[in-house]
Amino acid sequence: MYNTKAYSAASATSPLASDTIARRDPTEHDVRIEILFCGICHSDLHSVRNEWSDFMSTTYPIVPGHEIVGRVTQVGSAVTKYKPGDLVAVGCMVDSDGDCPRCKAGLEQFCQDVIFTYNSPDKHLGGVTYGGYSDSIVVDQRFVLRVPENLDLAGVAPLLCAGITTYSPLRHWGVTEGKKVGVIGLGGLGHMGVKFAHAFGAHTVVFTTSPNKTEDALRLGADEVVISRNADEMQKHAGSFDFILDTVSAKHDINAYLNLLRLDGNITLVGAPENPLDVAAFSLIMARRSLSGSSIGGIPETQEMLEFCGEHNITADVEVIPIQKVNEAYERLLKSDVKYRFVIDITSLKSE
Ligand code: NAP
Ligand code: ZN
Repeated sequence: MYNTKAYSAASATSPLASDTIARRDPTEHDVRIEILFCGICHSDLHSVRNEWSDFMSTTYPIVPGHEIVGRVTQVGSAVTKYKPGDLVAVGCMVDSDGDCPRCKAGLEQFCQDVIFTYNSPDKHLGGVTYGGYSDSIVVDQRFVLRVPENLDLAGVAPLLCAGITTYSPLRHWGVTEGKKVGVIGLGGLGHMGVKFAHAFGAHTVVFTTSPNKTEDALRLGADEVVISRNADEMQKHAGSFDFILDTVSAKHDINAYLNLLRLDGNITLVGAPENPLDVAAFSLIMARRSLSGSSIGGIPETQEMLEFCGEHNITADVEVIPIQKVNEAYERLLKSDVKYRFVIDITSLKSE
């Protein structure tokens, strides 16, 4: 065991503050990583404030962070995939049972024993796992991803959650050229969804509550932008979408969007608001529409997504902050004031 610097929250109402946590020494299958950048996902905020208590209540202290990029500093004796100096990444998962049908299908995120990067039982040290708002992390090589060397590293970090969480459902639902695709909410997930939908060749429409994001949405790859609070603008698109990706982090009217789907159209929820959404039966029934959900993506698909980003030069648009500004960043997230992902420069932890 060794100690590493981190930022943690002591309760649902405490700010994040400097702390020291223990990490295990690498076992034979483990990789030790010096963290360079860690993105701030809205899920970090939901978890710190225990907003998902019905699904997964938070154990304190919590060290959030699951958009991790860094360099390998040490490997266990059985590690074959990585060596010291390699540029690597870790996303939302650090372990799973490895042999259930879901794991075998490369869908580790749906394994019943999946261990998330933070706030999951830590079978090595007891207590819970601690995430990437810290100097270093030790992870089984199966859950470590390789990072293309040509990409901006701060912009890579958000690919590990915002990237794969949007890439995976767009692929699953067959988003390609000729499809009309909507993305609701232009935040961390939403802006990656726009980049991918555009890269896959779809006609891409952004729904935003923030009129001041219109120009950015077009620059990011949207063909059209709809201000979702304007009922007339919404109505113009009634019955026309093949697929809509919903990334909204707070309660909103999902029926307004279901009504924009064509026959057999689908809305996939990736946003995970604290409170349930109301679905009107007739929003679905009348055009055999469907509403579904999606959780991040498996390890093979995450690696595929990173390579796709390397080939197409896709990274997140980021605002890099020192860790000392993390509480301020959370307040700005709540005001939809993010362009379009905060990323912590972990070297700022060294001064703590
Ligand atoms: P974010 O950066 O804060 O973006 C959320 C966006 O939603 C905002 O920028 C805003 O976009 C829109 N929005 C916020 N409040 C709204 C409201 N009251 N009504 C309508 N629109 C609103 O958050 P994020 O990191 O992208 O995460 C989004 C959600 O996805 C969170 O709930 C997060 O926990 C969840 N998530 C799920 C997964 C998964 O695997 N399923 C993975 C990661 C995150 P506009 O300003 O454009 O309206
Ligand atoms: Zn996330």
